[in-house]
Amino acid sequence: ATPTALMVGTARSAKLGVLIKNGEVLQEVSDLDTVVFDKTGTITVGKPQVTDVVGNSKQVLQVAASLEESSEHPLATAILQRAADDGLSVEHVREFAAIEGKGVRAEYQGQEAFVGSDRLLTDINISREMKATAEKLQSAAKTVVYVGLSGQIIGLIAIQDVAKPSSPEAIKELKARGLKTVMLTGDNEAVAQAIADQVGIDQVIAGALPNEKAQHIKKLQDAGATAAFVGDGINDAPALSTADVGIAMGSGTDIAIDSGGIVLVQNDLRGVVRALDISKKTFNRIK
Ligand code: ADP
Ligand code: MG
Repeated sequence: ATPTALMVGTARSAKLGVLIKNGEVLQEVSDLDTVVFDKTGTITVGKPQVTDVVGNSKQVLQVAASLEESSEHPLATAILQRAADDGLSVEHVREFAAIEGKGVRAEYQGQEAFVGSDRLLTDINISREMKATAEKLQSAAKTVVYVGLSGQIIGLIAIQDVAKPSSPEAIKELKARGLKTVMLTGDNEAVAQAIADQVGIDQVIAGALPNEKAQHIKKLQDAGATAAFVGDGINDAPALSTADVGIAMGSGTDIAIDSGGIVLVQNDLRGVVRALDISKKTFNRIK
């Protein structure tokens, strides 16, 4: 995606890959005390891989891949890749529906099927054994999706998305500048906490549905925070607009880029530290 941002600040900021849309943003950045991050694609690489399949792996993957073929979620890409690697064919499904922040449903060979988080399991029982397996995978920073067919859970798939190598350093630098760091994600609490621990994030807000992300920012602001939000996805646009400063990853969707007051050209959180330093310097000079 090409940033449409009009750039201010210094020639140096552009060289460092930080596009600042207007002068007001400079002041707002100087006032920040909190930085909130999306997880997938922002703190993590955003290219998740299937690591474990529990159940009859051929059937579990085949059902999951057949449903996920109609989804553009990064988890769907991971499942389709693994099914292809295993030489499995994808079946045509009917009545596909994506349930935002939860998963997907469809009719697979005449049977109701789904793939998604435990929030989809409203009227389905999960065995104690399956739950224990899931919790173990989640505390190892793996996202678990359950696969259901005809009212039964037939298995689960664990998917891992690793932190960008530069994320811990960026978080450390932000904390050194006195900023509080927060992760805001739709993923499960245990997974989010495990990744937060890896990169040194102070606070985790997990299980947030896409349409709730902006409300969580608002809540932090109501509690007195001046907060930036850093994100890349279509779903991140409302949070980017609600935050005192929206920081969009240039690798992200056009809508995210348009919603950000700052665009980071490189897909690297150290850009947030640079944006902060550049804004402080420029703002102090014009003050
Ligand atoms: P994030 O905040 O990390 O971008 P999302 O809001 O996109 O997360 O998704 C939250 C959770 O919903 C995922 O961790 C997953 O459990 C479930 N989910 C969402 N979309 C899908 C999908 N296409 N297939 C399976 N699970 C999904
Ligand atoms: Mg996301």
